[in-house]
Amino acid sequence: MSIKDIYQCLLRAYGPQGWWPITRDSSRGPEYFPGSYDHPKNEREAWEIMVGAILTQNTAWKNVEKALKALLEKDCLDMECLAKIEKPKLAELIRPAGYYNQKAERLQGLARYLLENWGSLDAFFNRPTLEIREELLSLKGIGKETADSILLYAGKKPIFVVDAYTRRIFFRLGLIPREDLDYDKIRVMVEDEFSKLSEENRRRLFNEFHALLVEHAKKHCKKSPYCEGCPLSKDCNYQKL
Ligand code: SF4
Repeated sequence: MSIKDIYQCLLRAYGPQGWWPITRDSSRGPEYFPGSYDHPKNEREAWEIMVGAILTQNTAWKNVEKALKALLEKDCLDMECLAKIEKPKLAELIRPAGYYNQKAERLQGLARYLLENWGSLDAFFNRPTLEIREELLSLKGIGKETADSILLYAGKKPIFVVDAYTRRIFFRLGLIPREDLDYDKIRVMVEDEFSKLSEENRRRLFNEFHALLVEHAKKHCKKSPYCEGCPLSKDCNYQKL
């Protein structure tokens, strides 16, 4: 089964996922927009995604939602407030997301860095993808998965995000020889598969593909897999391992 077939199969099985969740109404918190690839529509939404990408490190999204809601309630989700709020106060607000001292430092570091060096997210993102990626990776606490999530979902760049779910599913399907294969090898393998598409179509597809892999890992390809009814079971190597 090719990577393209896997994507199509997951899309048929689960439908568009509407990532990345964005807050439109602060009383409701972040919402998904299945089938819409217009977000982020402005810098506020792009920044919310960046904050979410850091908060979601090593924790479930439901905990991130609580932290985002707490920031919104204190009217402190914007870059300026996060740059100047006292760090212990910030840590307390984002406590539900776990590792809150570390994440407070990362968030504040990112907000200050962007304000001091770029002034706006439009200026920051209006450059070649790999140049921005290198800069993000040079910042404290931003690894490849976080950097690529920021590039794809906040910066609307056509880059494929690799996470633990991707590794698990690809390994079980026989696409990669081991789960800990080099991050960029997996990323480039997927990006090459879709290299003939336009930049915008690749961006939409990578947006959807990553979200679909997460959904698949939650529904079927769990740590201990639930293979009954799995849309990929016909071509999966797992039973043969
Ligand atoms: S058949 Fe099982 S192991 Fe293979 S992709 Fe589906 S859930 Fe995962």
